[in-house]
Amino acid sequence: MGRLFGTNGVRGIVNEDLTIDLAVRLGKAIGTFFKGTVVIASDTRRSGGMIKGAVSSGLMASGADIIDIGMLPTPAMQHYVGSHRDMAGGVMITASHNPPQFNGIKCVGPTGRELAREVEEEIEALYDEDPGCNAWDAVGTISYDPTATEAYVDSVVEHVDAESIRNANLTAVLDCANGAAFATGPMLLSKLGVRAITLNANPQGDFPGHPSEPTEENLKDIISLMRTTKADVGIAHDGDADRTVFITDAGEYVGGEKSLSIMSKYVLSKKSGLVVTPVSSSSMVEEVVKAAGGDVMYTAVGSPVVAKAMFLNNAVFGGEDNGGMIFPEHQLCRDGAMAAAKMLECIVKDGKLSEQMKALPIYHTIRRKIKCPNELKIPLVEYLMEMNKDAKADTTDGLKLLYKDGWMLARSSGTEPIFRIYSESKDAEKAMQRANEIEIKAIEFIEFSSNANDA
Ligand code: MG
Repeated sequence: MGRLFGTNGVRGIVNEDLTIDLAVRLGKAIGTFFKGTVVIASDTRRSGGMIKGAVSSGLMASGADIIDIGMLPTPAMQHYVGSHRDMAGGVMITASHNPPQFNGIKCVGPTGRELAREVEEEIEALYDEDPGCNAWDAVGTISYDPTATEAYVDSVVEHVDAESIRNANLTAVLDCANGAAFATGPMLLSKLGVRAITLNANPQGDFPGHPSEPTEENLKDIISLMRTTKADVGIAHDGDADRTVFITDAGEYVGGEKSLSIMSKYVLSKKSGLVVTPVSSSSMVEEVVKAAGGDVMYTAVGSPVVAKAMFLNNAVFGGEDNGGMIFPEHQLCRDGAMAAAKMLECIVKDGKLSEQMKALPIYHTIRRKIKCPNELKIPLVEYLMEMNKDAKADTTDGLKLLYKDGWMLARSSGTEPIFRIYSESKDAEKAMQRANEIEIKAIEFIEFSSNANDA
């Protein structure tokens, strides 16, 4: 049946694309592949219990013993798997920042890291074969461990300068988005001696507070609370709390490229080395990293690719401009609580976020997406490459044209029938002009190709 796993596991609308039949069968495939004890957890979505039950049934039918560690952030599950030597792998039931009708099934290997594409293909092949169920005396068992949440939070606290944070008597506004951060966010702030004003900290999988993608538009409440409470920092997570975005003490939303730059600078002030980020990240990161004496390495888009490059090149830090940060001294995956704790440390040592923001270089970045049928994605990139074959370019992921004052990136989405265009420059007009030009070319190509197919 071809590709089942997208960039972030198997995702779909519950009981339409992501059915319990699919979940049971995938559970059998995962259990057959891992052959051992498998950890399972979910975020706060309404369908979490149902999908987790179905995947669990499949896992046990294939002979896997499972440990259900409850409702918690994806990185807490990854930490549990990685810190227990005898785990074969882990499964997270989450659709991250997607709307509440979605859910997903995401696997990690014995180290807690996301699986390589080749490994997912092996699981997909097993899914296609549909492994049967074991005989009654060879099915797996289920046990429960409620300790994962606190173990993760304690581990984060051990990896920051907790004493300095405690001594600073900070106040933070924390927005859990009714998602998995409810389990770890308030506990983390309490253990770090930070006074917490919480928002949407009750787990409600329909996300009544606001949509679970932490964009500026969705975070109006925390932004206005920051202005009235005079707190030191605002912290907001996405639905499964692997990502973290920040609001300054002055109530300004800190874009992901800015928090990544500020954190890179802070990490490099302690330890020089390499920072890894995807080709879609703002050049702001590179400028700040170079000024701090570090180097940047670019990868294709997607946190597993960033994590792998960090591992292979012994990087000191890495992340994406959507609030995903990876701290290799803790674990090689996006780590929402670690990002929050490290930013508190950074504020204590380097000063208010509002001041740190002022020191950042200015770039104008335009991001657009256009509808593009999946079968036209590769031909479109090839067409744009041919058209720009004499230009200075990087083809790590799609086509990135490099200019003196900026760059333009055209790439296909890994998960949706969408083509993305990014254009960045220190000159706002140039950024806009390049985005317009490439967008027109792309739309024309898609139209002509679609018409050709109809004829
Ligand atoms: Mg997420």
